[in-house]
Amino acid sequence: LPLVKASNSLSLSLQAKMSRPVQARRLEGIDKNIWVEFVKLAATYSTVNLGQGFPDFPPPDFLKEAFVRALSGENHMLHQYTRAFGHPPLVKILAQFFGKLLGRDLDPMTNVMVTVGAYQALFCCFQAFVDDGDEVIIIEPFFDCYEPMVKMAGGMPVFVPLRPKAPKDGKLMSSADWQLDPAELASKFSDRTKAIVLNSPNNPLGKVFSRGELEVIADLCVKYDVLCISDEVYEWLVYDGKEHIRIASLQGMWDRTVIIGSAGKTFSATGWKVGWTVGPNRLLQHLCTVHQNSVYHCATAAQEAVAQGFQRELKLYGKPESYFVQLPKELQQKRDWLVQSLDAVGMKPIIPEGTYFLVADISKFKSDVPDVPDSDEPYDSRFAKWMVKNKGLAAIPLSAFYCGAHKNNYNHFIRFCFAKEEATLKAANDILQKWKWEKTNP
Ligand code: PMP
Repeated sequence: LPLVKASNSLSLSLQAKMSRPVQARRLEGIDKNIWVEFVKLAATYSTVNLGQGFPDFPPPDFLKEAFVRALSGENHMLHQYTRAFGHPPLVKILAQFFGKLLGRDLDPMTNVMVTVGAYQALFCCFQAFVDDGDEVIIIEPFFDCYEPMVKMAGGMPVFVPLRPKAPKDGKLMSSADWQLDPAELASKFSDRTKAIVLNSPNNPLGKVFSRGELEVIADLCVKYDVLCISDEVYEWLVYDGKEHIRIASLQGMWDRTVIIGSAGKTFSATGWKVGWTVGPNRLLQHLCTVHQNSVYHCATAAQEAVAQGFQRELKLYGKPESYFVQLPKELQQKRDWLVQSLDAVGMKPIIPEGTYFLVADISKFKSDVPDVPDSDEPYDSRFAKWMVKNKGLAAIPLSAFYCGAHKNNYNHFIRFCFAKEEATLKAANDILQKWKWEKTNP
């Protein structure tokens, strides 16, 4: 009898080995992720990490205190589930706040939905709106997850590039010099187009789309009856007196736009993963369907704290004490330090009008990292890897923000994040200065 038992279990274990493919077809070609690779490299080699986009300074005290109060206060229900589509105090204050910004009455229960960061908001949009074969226009360079998320939903990404114009009189380039060609943009729209993804202020360039540029996009959306997924996570981070214009406020756009925001960027707390969507109920109801069938619910205490953060900001709106006034002021100074550091060593910066990213031209440093002809890997990617391993400075190659076919179009730029303590930016400056000195004194 024991022998029979043994042979049974052997045949069972053989059967347990599956030979059929396990991976769903929708995952084909989207298994690589730039952040997994570069975050690991930065953790292993970097002494100064200006790669992934997160502040190395703390969130404001009023926000941290609100979280502590939520966790240790009397209301123990803040440790339990809350409303699936958003904790009531948070959706209420978001409706009030965005209602004021957009100049329209918003219903907290139908015009706002809270998500696990802006990332999940994006995922909900693509799952809710994109059918097999639908085309979705993506403006390059773009936050990299748009492409795989569209593909996972069965859609076809259609790319249109921002094209750089040479700046005048030997001036440094600005992110405003990167522009869409209106005719090229129009040529991408057709009756197959379901949506366009707009990201202003744009990661990675820091471009803040002007009213004129937004009107061109809006007119095409209306003409072709296209949705706009408007990723506005850097809405407060605009510099030099620039204004962030919400495309949903333009004629004909409210009804076809989902606005996406992030407490991570808004309050310098990326690890909290609180995000939101704002839009008309006819669109948001479908995001709710995706949300209730996937994540269902977001962390209650973090939502409570973010709600209190917004309550404070609504009271102080436009005043010098407002975090939404102070943060961009501080970041503009950090941007200017990094611009100076890079310019001084000849790594030409493109001055960003918004976000906490800055793209720089590495052409003058090419001699340090020789090209490998016929390599599959874009030059900027090899450069960024070499830089973190040999100089301890982490940055992200610009090619990571282009689709596969276009990765070599702009492959001599890298992106730095400047939402960092003064000491971190100073350490980056020291590395760059030493590097330049070694180049000129071999
Ligand atoms: N959109 C853009 C343009 C981003 O840069 C990021 C974060 N880097 C996100 C969305 C995701 O934001 P969150 O951390 O709130 O999920």
